Amino acid sequence: MKKILSLFIGLILIFSVAMPVSAAGLSVKVTASSATVTEGQNVTFTVSLSGAAKATSGSIAVTYPEDAFGFVSGSFSKEKDAAMKKFDTSKNKGSIAFDTDTDFNGSYFVLTLKATTPGADMLDVTFEVILHKTGDDVGSGSASRSVKIDCKTHAYGSYSKKDSSNHTRTCTKCGHVETTAHSWNGGSVTKAATCKETGSKTYTCTKCGASKTETIAKTNDHSFGAWERTKAPTCTTKGQDSRTCKVCGKVETRDVAATGHSFGGFTTVKEASCEGKGEQTRTCMICGVKETKELAALGHSFQNPTVIKQPTCTEPGEESGKCTRCGKETTNKIPATGHKVDVYAVTKDATCTEAGEETGTCTVCGDTDVREIPAKGHTYGEPVVVTPATETSVGKQTKTCTVCGDTVDEEIPMLDTAITSTPDDSQPEGSDSSDTTVDADKNEKTGKALLKVILPLAALAVIGVCAAFFVIRRKR
Ligand SMILES: [Zn+2]
Ligand SMILES: [Zn+2]
Ligand SMILES: [Zn+2]
Ligand SMILES: [Zn+2]
Ligand SMILES: [Zn+2]
Ligand SMILES: [Zn+2]
Ligand SMILES: [Zn+2]
Repeated sequence: MKKILSLFIGLILIFSVAMPVSAAGLSVKVTASSATVTEGQNVTFTVSLSGAAKATSGSIAVTYPEDAFGFVSGSFSKEKDAAMKKFDTSKNKGSIAFDTDTDFNGSYFVLTLKATTPGADMLDVTFEVILHKTGDDVGSGSASRSVKIDCKTHAYGSYSKKDSSNHTRTCTKCGHVETTAHSWNGGSVTKAATCKETGSKTYTCTKCGASKTETIAKTNDHSFGAWERTKAPTCTTKGQDSRTCKVCGKVETRDVAATGHSFGGFTTVKEASCEGKGEQTRTCMICGVKETKELAALGHSFQNPTVIKQPTCTEPGEESGKCTRCGKETTNKIPATGHKVDVYAVTKDATCTEAGEETGTCTVCGDTDVREIPAKGHTYGEPVVVTPATETSVGKQTKTCTVCGDTVDEEIPMLDTAITSTPDDSQPEGSDSSDTTVDADKNEKTGKALLKVILPLAALAVIGVCAAFFVIRRKR
């Protein structure tokens, strides 16, 4: 019976949702206290009429899903004065009657239902109104409202991805959809970055299983091969080594110090004579550059010279004879002897920067001799830091002379930051170029030192041999 009624009302509803159905101008409207009600709460519907002709009685029939709502109360608005018949909750029907013609326009019926069962769908509550006058229908119409019942406590199902930022879960009871942000895990590297290519890291949502990928920047960890000499150094110009990353092809270079010349021994190109200078040269075996050295004139060599004039403290003397080397009859100067002073007295103290003086009397000639006392130079104490160095700027320190108070500023080098691979501080195997340079330098220095010793010895030997030769010839 109710089903047939519902079907009938349903058909009417198709129209009533859009516009109130009216017969003879009767219009039925219904409002609800809320379109959404939480499980356990009440919702009140108010049915009101307009355009109704005067009538003596009116009825109402209510249809609602009884598995979702429970009846709380239902009453006609004009109930007070009515010769009335109650609302029958077993049939969800009721009527009201008056002795005289009554105006039913305005609020007609108020129904309160309690929401009992949450659900995902909108639930229709439908009201059918019929007005009578002395047995005839003078108007009828219906209207309905849709109400949704939410849970008090949702029973959510599992999460599912909504978009790149959010996931959702739906209440299995009321269909409520909750949207929240993904909760990403720590992520795992799905492709390691190299110096050539970026890598990737994948994060997974611990709730819905969605994933996102982030790029890992290229690394600075190159796989360099061995250093190779790409430009050989010369005696005077720098060379260059380079090495290439096997992965990305990046090339790194470093300077190789100039080797310095590799001179052979000196060769005499012009012998020194008694009065004429000699000359020696040596040639770089690599680049052919020549270095020239002058040999001092030997001076005449007398065997038994005759002193013509004795030297004094300040004046040179003179001697004459026949040179054993060149046979020339000539004179030589005898150097002045210099004053002979036993005791000097300081007449002016030396300071840090100015020379002093000391004076003495020559025991030979009686002249006063004045000697310089060299300036002592400053005696600086420990430096005091004025501005400490940082990793980005040099610092400053000051030293003060403990004698004269002179100060000098010094720069404190910047602090070392861990610099990665500047060409010269990483020296892998096979890089002996700079060592070679150092060795060459050393060799050259040692060579020079040796020459300083050997050359005079050689000269002496030559002189000795010549002298012996002349002596031998004379004796014959
Ligand atoms: Zn729910
Ligand atoms: Zn998620
Ligand atoms: Zn690389
Ligand atoms: Zn050279
Ligand atoms: Zn001579
Ligand atoms: Zn003197
Ligand atoms: Zn000083």
